[in-house]
Amino acid sequence: MKRAAAMAFVVLASVSCGAGEPVASPATSDSVHETPESPMSVPASAGQKPTPAPSPTGPPPFSANVSRVARDQLPYSWRPGCPVHYRDLRLVTLTYWGFDDKPHTGQLVVRKTVTSDIVTVFKRLYGWRWPIKQMKLVDAYKGDDYDSIDADNTSAFNCRPATGSSNWSNHAYGEAIDINPRENPYVTASGSTAHQNAKKFAKRPVSGKGVVNPGDKVVKAFSRVGWEWGGYWSGTKDYQHFSKGGG
Ligand SMILES: [Zn+2]
Repeated sequence: MKRAAAMAFVVLASVSCGAGEPVASPATSDSVHETPESPMSVPASAGQKPTPAPSPTGPPPFSANVSRVARDQLPYSWRPGCPVHYRDLRLVTLTYWGFDDKPHTGQLVVRKTVTSDIVTVFKRLYGWRWPIKQMKLVDAYKGDDYDSIDADNTSAFNCRPATGSSNWSNHAYGEAIDINPRENPYVTASGSTAHQNAKKFAKRPVSGKGVVNPGDKVVKAFSRVGWEWGGYWSGTKDYQHFSKGGG
């Protein structure tokens, strides 16, 4: 969340985070189309011989689709004056592994220059079956960072300043992501977190589903594409926060 807790700086119109303009970007491989919500197909009906398949009941392979973002897909998270124009943002629709041990399709908005970083990392996480609670655009929470975090929502772009600062957050550039923010809270130097449901996750290391600890493979996966972890900050720790180049 990058030094921004309860503040909703942007409140505009109605919620919309559905599918956007299906303009495929050539920038990303791995991309075919979205995986359906129920990808586990039943091999055959009664009376028929099931067709042999390499993995008839296994989860689908990772997929990611990168598309342009329409203005009305970001009714709360973007506005004129933001440091990155929405035309330079991309909607990434990708497969993630859920807390329910099932594959899901989630959406993130990031700057177009970092889509391959994000796809690379999330492909790895999916391969590890590393669980993510949910992944919706922050617009589903009217751009309210606090509400998105309280819902344990993983999200990236949000045009807002860093808390207590006139500078933009890295989220405003589409170059930061918050992952499982309940399990990985923002913790002040004195050890407190603004979210009641996150209190038991305020210390590291801690065990639990979707938790990021120092030295974890998740941290390393981001590090390999040049993204740094807020859990390594001194003083305040932002365990949910990864950003390109840090900060
Ligand atoms: Zn963050």
